[in-house]
Amino acid sequence: MSNVRTRAMAEFATHEAKRFYEDEKPTTDYFGVNVFDMQKMQMYLSEKAFNAVEAAIDHGEKIEREIADQIAAGMKNWAVKMGATHYTHWFQPLTDATAEKHESFSSPIEGKAGSLERKGSFEDFKGSTLIQQEPDASSFPNGGLRNTFEARGYTAWDPSSPAFIMGKTLCIPTVFVAYTGESLDQKTPHLKSIAAISKAATAICRMFDKNVSKVIPQLGIEQEYFLVDEALFNARPDLQACGRTLLGHNAAKDQQLEDHYFGAIPSRVVAFMQDFETEAYKLGVHLKTRHNEVAPNQFEFAPIYGEANISSDQNLMMMIIMKSIAEKHKLKVLFHEKPFDGVNGSGKHCNWSLVTNTGVNLFKPGKTPRTNLQFLCFFASVIRGVYEHNRLLMSTVTSLNNMYRMGGHEAPPTILSVFIGETLSRLVESIENYSDKGVEAVQKKDVKVRSKLHIVNQIPEILPDNTDRNRTSPFAFTGNRFEFRAVGSSANVASSVFVLNTIVAEQLIRFKELVVKYMDDGLSEAKAMMKVIRQFFLESKKIRFEGNGYSEEWRQEAQRRGLSEIRNTTDAFAEYIDKKNIKLFQDLDIMTGKEAVARYEVLNEIYVKKLQIEARVLGDLVTNHVIPTAITFQNSLISNVQGVKELFPDEYKTLCETQLRLIPKISGYINNLSKEVKSMIDARKVANKIEDIPTRAKEYEKNVFPYMHIIRQYTDKLEMVIDDELWPLPKYRELQSFR
Ligand code: ADP
Ligand code: MG
Repeated sequence: MSNVRTRAMAEFATHEAKRFYEDEKPTTDYFGVNVFDMQKMQMYLSEKAFNAVEAAIDHGEKIEREIADQIAAGMKNWAVKMGATHYTHWFQPLTDATAEKHESFSSPIEGKAGSLERKGSFEDFKGSTLIQQEPDASSFPNGGLRNTFEARGYTAWDPSSPAFIMGKTLCIPTVFVAYTGESLDQKTPHLKSIAAISKAATAICRMFDKNVSKVIPQLGIEQEYFLVDEALFNARPDLQACGRTLLGHNAAKDQQLEDHYFGAIPSRVVAFMQDFETEAYKLGVHLKTRHNEVAPNQFEFAPIYGEANISSDQNLMMMIIMKSIAEKHKLKVLFHEKPFDGVNGSGKHCNWSLVTNTGVNLFKPGKTPRTNLQFLCFFASVIRGVYEHNRLLMSTVTSLNNMYRMGGHEAPPTILSVFIGETLSRLVESIENYSDKGVEAVQKKDVKVRSKLHIVNQIPEILPDNTDRNRTSPFAFTGNRFEFRAVGSSANVASSVFVLNTIVAEQLIRFKELVVKYMDDGLSEAKAMMKVIRQFFLESKKIRFEGNGYSEEWRQEAQRRGLSEIRNTTDAFAEYIDKKNIKLFQDLDIMTGKEAVARYEVLNEIYVKKLQIEARVLGDLVTNHVIPTAITFQNSLISNVQGVKELFPDEYKTLCETQLRLIPKISGYINNLSKEVKSMIDARKVANKIEDIPTRAKEYEKNVFPYMHIIRQYTDKLEMVIDDELWPLPKYRELQSFR
C-alpha cells in the first residue's frame, strides 16, 4: 500500500544528521565577517565619511550627498570583495515578513556600435542609490495610503542598522514609506519610538547625571520555533499553505511527560543548529542559548541582547537564515504561533530594557538610595504606561495566528498584567503606604514604615534573582529588564516594541512634568520624585498581578478589576483607530492619524486573506483527502460484511458488530463534513461580498472562523477510526518525531 503519507515516511527515514559547515576555526575568526560594521567602515571609508556615519547613528544627523557617495563606494568595495554581485534595499512591510528586490551592481554600459556590453562598471551604486530606492511597491499592503495611480513607495537607508551580506547580496536595512511620506512599514514607527523614548528618558536621567545624552532601548529576543521533516511537510497541504496543521488528531504521547523540555536535542536538529549558528555568527549575531522547548519538536534560540533596532533586524535576518539552512538539512522551520493543536504554541519573548549612553541599565536597582530612586522613576513609569494602554499593547500581539495560541496550552491569556516578583511587590506596597506629607514625616511617626523605607535603600541586597519568576505573566519584570511574552513567534517585534516604547515615553514625559510641578509647589527634587512614583504605583495598581495568569480565577479577577480582555481579533485591530491612541501616536510623533488608519486597514486585510486561505485549504483537504479516504475504508468494511454474510448468513450481525457500527458512523461523519464545508463556503461567499475590508474581516471572524474548529472535530474523529494504512496525511505523532 502506497500513498502520499507512506511515501513521505519512507523518504523521511532516509534523512540523516549531517553537517554542512566545518567548525575547524574558532568563532572569533569569522564572527561578523558578513557585516559592514564600524570596524569595516573604518577600513573602507575616509575619515570624513566614517565620522558622518557615526554622527548619523549617534545623533541622527543627516548625511550629505557627496559623503553618501563616498560611503556607497566604500560599502560596495567591501561587498564586492566579499563576493557580492547584487545589492538590495531590505525593508519590513506591514506583513511581518521582509522584502527585498535585488539589483545587480554591474550595469550594462554602451559598447561598440551601440551594443550593450556587461562591463561590471558598478555605476549604479552611488550615494543616491544607497540612500534611496523606489521599488515597485504596488503589491505591498498600504491600507489605502497609495492610490493605484500613484503606487510609488520609497525605501530609505537606515544607517543605524549595519548593512550585511546574505548569499551573494548586500542587504541594506531601510525604511519603507509612501510617495506622500507616510510609513508603510514596521521599522519607521520603531525608529521614531526609539527617538521618543530616548528623549523622554534622557530628560529624567539628566536630573541624576548630566553626562547622559541618550537612552537606548535594548532588546533580547527569544525565538521559539518548530521543526518538521521536509518530506512530511510536503505531504501536508495545510502546513505548506498556512504554516499550521488544520487537522490532525493529537498523538497519544505529546508533551504530557515534559521530557522534551531541555532534553537531549536530536542529532539531526543539533546538526542544523550548529550550521545555523555558524551563519548567525558570520552575520554578527551572538547566539547564546539553544534548547528544546516544551512541545515535541519545538526549539528556541536566543541571542545576546543589543540595541533594539539592531536586535529586531537581526531577528528577521535569523528567520530568513534558518529557513535556508533548514532546507539543506531537509527540515522545515515553522514560525507559526500554533502549528499543532493540543500542544504549546510558539512565542517570541521580548526582553526589553533601557540603557544610557553612559552604560547604566535604568531597570537595574542601584547601589545607593539615589540610584535606586532613578530605578524607581523608570520602573514606575513602565508599569504606569502598560496600565494606561494595556489594551493597545495587547492588541499589538493579536493576529489570526497568535489567537490560536493565546489562552491555550501554557500561553498567557489576552489580558495584560504585570508581574514584578515578591521583593519588589513588598517595596511597591511600602511606597504606596507612605504618607503624602513626605518621607521624613512618616519615618518619624511610624516605625513600621521606617523599616519599609529601609527596603528602598536596600534594594541591591535583596534584588529579586532570576528564579523569582512567573512564567504565566505576559509582562514580567525579571531583575534588570521587562519580558513581554505575549508576542507571537512569527511577528516582527518592531510592531509591538514601538508601542511599548511609545507608551512608556508618554509616562516619562508626564513624570518629568509632575516632578517639576511638585517642585514648584515647594518639594525637594527627591521628594517630588517619590511623590510621583507613589502616584504612578497607586494609579496602576490594577495591572499588577502575581498569581497564575493561566487560571480561570485570574480572568474573573481581571474582569472585576476592569482590565480588558481581548476576545476578538478584529476588535483588537480597532485599537489603532481609537481616538486616545491616535492622539498618543500623534503627540509623540510616532504615526499620523492616516498612518494609524492604514495600519488598521492592513491588519484587517491580512486577517481576511489568511483566514480565507485556511478555509479554502481546509475545504480541499476534507473534500479531496478525508472524505475519499473515509469512503474507501467504508467500502472495505462493506465488502467485509458482505463476505461474512455469505459465509455465515445467520450470525453475520454478531460477527460484524464492529463493522456494522462503524459503517453508519462513518457515513454520519462524511455527511456532517460535507454539510459543514458547504456552509463554510457559503459563509465565505457572504463575507467576500462585503466591500469594506474591516467589516469583511469582522464577518470572517464571526461566521467563517468557527468552522476551523467545527470541521476538524469530524476529521479528527475519522482519523481515529480509519485504517492507518489508508490515511493520506502524515499524523501528529509522525510530524512530531525525530530519530
Ligand atoms: P529565559 O528563557 O530564562 O527568559 P534566556 O537566556 O533564554 O532566558 O533569554 C533571555 C534573553 O534576555 C537573552 O536574549 C538575553 O540576552 C536577554 N537579556 C538579558 N539581559 C537583558 C537586558 N538587560 N535587556 C534586554 N535583554 C536582556
Ligand atoms: Mg525562554
